[in-house]
Amino acid sequence: MDTPTNHPLFNLAGRTALITGSTRGIGLALAQGLAEAGARVIVNSRQLAAVDEARKALAAKGIEALGAAFDVADEAAVGAAFDAFDRQGTEIDILINNAGIQHRQPMLELGLADWQRVIDTNLTAAFLVGKQAAQRMVARGRGGKIINIGSLTSEAARATVAPYTVAKGGIKMLSRAMAAEWAKFDIQANSIGPGYILTDMNEALVNNRDFDAWVKASNPAQRWGRPEELVGAAVFLSAAASNYVNGQIIYVDGGWLSVL
Ligand code: NDP
Repeated sequence: MDTPTNHPLFNLAGRTALITGSTRGIGLALAQGLAEAGARVIVNSRQLAAVDEARKALAAKGIEALGAAFDVADEAAVGAAFDAFDRQGTEIDILINNAGIQHRQPMLELGLADWQRVIDTNLTAAFLVGKQAAQRMVARGRGGKIINIGSLTSEAARATVAPYTVAKGGIKMLSRAMAAEWAKFDIQANSIGPGYILTDMNEALVNNRDFDAWVKASNPAQRWGRPEELVGAAVFLSAAASNYVNGQIIYVDGGWLSVL
């Protein structure tokens, strides 16, 4: 029997995927997962050295990844990166807008600069990169897939993370806005909302005994999620299996939102 990744509905052979923020954590796991499903993957972050390290880590697993270091929140840098893809003949069929940052501070003390930085990186960047990718998908006429990484905060607010919550709520609606405008070009734009996942972003929370206990107590799965547990949803939303799925958000949260 075929393995799921060999099934034609889930096979990504011949596709090229750009995964932003993929030098570690969820993005790196998604890059590996999409490559294992057959895609050629492009690793990204702001740091060239980190991109090279991630490519080396993937090469050790038999995956030949490309790399592109640029800041997803910098419109000129995003434009230059896509111009370089054009010159290299790199055609992106799948975009995962995954790069993100966190900033924890009560809103009563929050300054505009920190608000703006989080909104720029976690929301505006998905528009900037998504627009460049979609312009080329439309011009090529072969459609494409866009996956925007949301969060539990796409659905539920938590204290001390206001700009993150607002950005991730916006991500859910950005996918719908993309679907509304680009479905006619055979582009599917959907979101994935990860629950609490063990990555560097959450290091302080994992090491906080009270928070760690709260995550385990509040989640029906009674544990944190692992980055690789997001791969299934990402492969589905990258593949032919989801060709009539558009503007949706899939929460991969161990059931957390079900018992909210
Ligand atoms: P990490 O902090 O582990 O990794 C973030 C990645 O994004 C790094 O590769 C980082 O590289 C890159 N990055 C950050 N800013 C930029 C930028 N401006 N341009 C390009 N790359 C950038 O995060 P996670 O893996 O935990 O999170 C990944 C995504 O998943 C984020 O969107 C996050 O909000 C979301 N998420 C995470 C959850 C979790 O529990 N971990 C839960 C729900 C959602 P560098 O700093 O070198 O640029």
